[in-house]
Amino acid sequence: MELIRVRPELYMITLDFGTAYLWRDEEGDGGGEALTLVDTGIAGSADDVEAAVRRAGSDPAALRRIVLTHHHEDHTGSAAELARRWGAEVVAHRLDAPVVRGEQAPAPPVLSPFEEEIRAGLPPLPPAPPCPVDREVEDGEVLGFGGGAVVVHVPGHTDGSIALHLPGPGVLFTGDAVANVGGRTMLGVFNTDPARAADALRRLASLPVETAVFGHGDPVATGASAALRSAVEQLPQG
Ligand SMILES: [Zn+2]
Repeated sequence: MELIRVRPELYMITLDFGTAYLWRDEEGDGGGEALTLVDTGIAGSADDVEAAVRRAGSDPAALRRIVLTHHHEDHTGSAAELARRWGAEVVAHRLDAPVVRGEQAPAPPVLSPFEEEIRAGLPPLPPAPPCPVDREVEDGEVLGFGGGAVVVHVPGHTDGSIALHLPGPGVLFTGDAVANVGGRTMLGVFNTDPARAADALRRLASLPVETAVFGHGDPVATGASAALRSAVEQLPQG
């Protein structure tokens, strides 16, 4: 496990496979902290996430919510365990929630030859234990952290993929709609609908964003809108 402070309120937690993000809000009137996690890594990561929260100087008991950007097992794998331990509310888009709950099989991605190659190099991932979803969200809903986190529906990677845009601090959690690997910001891979995924990237690139964090890859701490626009420019034309 590795813990990186991206901004004063935002930590990146790199897990055995997958990434979780910790957002810390101060509650008014000496009410202490309120914590939000965005994604949870693969199954079996709960102890590492908890250790990271403590290393960041926070108490996991202050965990209020776990937002899942989409249903894939490297994002939702430890959500059920963390929610059970800390009583946090689990949030996911309406269209991915049935998969998170284990009630619906996931749709398979449409892979290019390039993506087939990447996938062949990945380790097999443990399945995500079914996780209750307490709150199903839609595009435009606002979550109570970071001064108001706007849900941006970005279908294409999965039907119910979401990004989270915090207009106040100018922060974007992209989930797997976008990746930032090897110094290059790009469309995420393993999409169920590549054309819709490209549209989703265009939409994210139109938002005012200073800091972007990704489902996979390094954070872009400053000037993230330009990085997102560069990813749009790399999209195949036509
Ligand atoms: Zn994914």
